[in-house]
Amino acid sequence: MADYGIELRGLTKQFTIRRASVTALDGVDLATKAGAFVALLGPSGCGKSTILRILADLDRPTSGEAFVHGEAPALTRSRHQLGIAFQDAALLPWRSVTANIRLPLEVSGVKADDAAIAELIRLVGLDGFEAARPAQLSGGMRQRVAIARALVVQPRILLLDEPFGALDEMTRQRLNLELQRIWTERATTTLLVTHSIAEAVFLADTVAVMSPRPGRIVAQVDIDLPRPRTPQMLRTQRFHELEDELSALLFGGSVAEERR
Ligand code: ADP
Ligand code: MG
Repeated sequence: MADYGIELRGLTKQFTIRRASVTALDGVDLATKAGAFVALLGPSGCGKSTILRILADLDRPTSGEAFVHGEAPALTRSRHQLGIAFQDAALLPWRSVTANIRLPLEVSGVKADDAAIAELIRLVGLDGFEAARPAQLSGGMRQRVAIARALVVQPRILLLDEPFGALDEMTRQRLNLELQRIWTERATTTLLVTHSIAEAVFLADTVAVMSPRPGRIVAQVDIDLPRPRTPQMLRTQRFHELEDELSALLFGGSVAEERR
């Protein structure tokens, strides 16, 4: 049996608003290796967050199945093996950095290991800010806290929904470098939702490209750039080729057509 990290089989999701039915996902298939960094790339509204929510057991598919390391998402969640971070850090404003990071342990009734939390704070580059409140932090620092909070349960799967989407481009690039370093140290199966082609190429082992709604996986592209990825790689020919390939898959022939 294959050792999959994430497995989606014929995943379909319909939402009903009043009496109208919206098909968000229509037969999504995906299988990726355990430990791999997967980017889910697609236009706004194609169902990326819906897939992430199903993998997090925050939502159920209308039909089809989702597995995390061969198990139902509900099982992964009940064992506290799931880490999740969103575009909005959603920190508790009255709590310090340390207390925010500790929160998932308190919620799940697991004893906090102070040394492990200190190590996480170092890992995300927030040494010296342990006692700071969210209002005293920059947007990038708040997202670092959100990622540390996602990692505190030592998840087997890390789900990131456009975690740097609201940040300026320079901060975003720096945090992407950091995210790569964190992922390399922890070797956790990771799914990053993004609508940035460059971000997907820079970080991922494999990029799953989605069609506009109703969402489907139209292609899966393996990224053969060596690791660690460096900012210099953003300017290499191979990087641009991969960007072109993904862009053609995302936008179909339309980009080439318009240029004629
Ligand atoms: P993405 O994250 O790719 O932008 P989403 O997964 O958030 O897309 O949404 C996919 C589609 O499903 C959109 O058309 C959205 O309006 C719809 N949708 C998402 N969540 C709900 C919901 N709770 N109720 C109704 N429609 C929803
Ligand atoms: Mg979304």
